[in-house]
Amino acid sequence: MSVSKVDRRTLLKAGGALAAIALTSCSETKSASAGSSAANLTSAGPDWAGFHAGLKGRVYRPGQPGYPTVRQLFNPRWDTIQPAGVVRAAGANDVRAAILFARKNKLVSVPKSGGHSYVGASTVSNGLVVDVSAMRSMSYSGNVLTVGAGAKLYDVHAFLDKHGKSLPTGTCPTVGIAGLTLGGGMGVHTRAFGLTCDRIQSMGVITADGVARNVSATVDPDLFWALRGGGGGNLGIVTSFKLITIPAAKLGFFRLTWPEAKAADVIRGWQKFAVAAPITAWGNVHINALSNGTLSIHVLGVSTTGNGAAAAAQLESYVGSKATTRTFAVRTHMEAVKYLGGGTTSARQGFLAGSDVLKPMTAPTIAALLGAVKTAARAKLPAAAILDPLGGQAAKVPSGGSSWGWRSAVGVVQWYSGLAAHPTSAQLRAAQTFITNGHRAVRPSTLGGYVNYVETGRSVSTYYGANYPRLQTVKKKYDPANFFRTGYTIA
Ligand SMILES: Cc1cc2nc3c(=O)[nH]c(=O)nc-3n(C[C@H](O)[C@H](O)[C@H](O)COP(=O)(O)OP(=O)(O)OC[C@H]3O[C@@H](n4cnc5c(N)ncnc54)[C@H](O)[C@@H]3O)c2cc1C
Repeated sequence: MSVSKVDRRTLLKAGGALAAIALTSCSETKSASAGSSAANLTSAGPDWAGFHAGLKGRVYRPGQPGYPTVRQLFNPRWDTIQPAGVVRAAGANDVRAAILFARKNKLVSVPKSGGHSYVGASTVSNGLVVDVSAMRSMSYSGNVLTVGAGAKLYDVHAFLDKHGKSLPTGTCPTVGIAGLTLGGGMGVHTRAFGLTCDRIQSMGVITADGVARNVSATVDPDLFWALRGGGGGNLGIVTSFKLITIPAAKLGFFRLTWPEAKAADVIRGWQKFAVAAPITAWGNVHINALSNGTLSIHVLGVSTTGNGAAAAAQLESYVGSKATTRTFAVRTHMEAVKYLGGGTTSARQGFLAGSDVLKPMTAPTIAALLGAVKTAARAKLPAAAILDPLGGQAAKVPSGGSSWGWRSAVGVVQWYSGLAAHPTSAQLRAAQTFITNGHRAVRPSTLGGYVNYVETGRSVSTYYGANYPRLQTVKKKYDPANFFRTGYTIA
């Protein structure tokens, strides 16, 4: 995660930037584009009309009704990108047809689920977007959720709740299950139940050769290994997942704040918490840059036993001081989902972010981390460092057991800066400087980056550490011609 919507709001307000951010709805108009004629799908080059005619879903081309909406991602910054076509696939056969059409016509093709890629990797200029968001059917049987690759997180939780079940996921209600799961998937249940990708029993995937596979620990096990953490858009287009669920239990929440003077103690204590607290306890640290040049510090925590007060007391004992403010609440599964997600949907939002996966930081590294956020505060940049813990169940899968390789890390720091929908280059530069400063600050403790927080200007191999050579081997086997390629893909 994990900038929950609640915390994003706090961050943006704190940075004084809320008014500058144009928020529009990210929900799409479902009927806007029905009924285009074959004539207006025809253009020189690829046979778009023939392609469209063979689909159960449909294709949207520039100039057609619906195209301006279906090509949008969560971050309005990517609105300038104009794909040659967007296929709204109705099922695995459409996905296969799209891959074969793109190959035949030498079009770069990228899959899209929830559209939340940090770098706009789910759209492509002059290429083909394979949008699976209409493939969102769900069924539940024997503790296993079968879900289409286009389902959004809120809908997954609402469906599972009817069965008394849940999943360890991130918090944003509109994030797609595919992007989140393929890149790992961190959230409040990570320590108690592991990452979202740890819950995969099997997946339907169409690989670059157009073959539909049902991969699992026993069928194409190398691809199964690679898809659990290898990041979306790399190895094939996943059409569905079978995910092993967890109980939809009540959660005990706590929110603790400390003064800025205690910030280093809080981070030091949080590191201990991530390693030593019971796996039922989780908490992430938010260091927010305020527009008056100071920092605000809080920890948002959860106990899966329902006893937030006990988890909070444990964190306070590691920090070495009582928090200045302490609030507690017990929430049902859906109350927790809505609280963390800020509701049932999420408005589009401009931002720039990056990450470091961390081993324990020494006192000078913690001081440097705080210094990076302080510099942003002094520059009045709406910025935050958010530290999410790993450990617990996430650490129990051997680091070679899936391609998500950061099993022994303490946690992940996300460098996040809220931006206007269409930021100026000066605003983008300022946000990038913050992220670069952050990376530099924690360099002695960084293991790599979290692929779900993919960023520009970073070597792809750094998202995978020691697992990268094995991922390259799997990539060569299933995508020898490098059909799935962007500047962010395994090569
Ligand atoms: C507001 C917000 C909150 C977030 N919160 C969390 C969080 O709490 N925890 C966390 O771990 N992460 C979080 N993230 C990061 C999120 O997990 C990643 O951005 C994720 O990749 C988004 O998935 P998506 O399907 O929405 O995005 P998309 O942009 O659709 O896809 C992301 C990547 O996956 C590829 N892809 C999409 N569909 C498929 C498919 N069917 N098969 C193969 N590849 C596919 C795309 O090509 C792209 O490369 C958050 C992001 C945002 C913007």
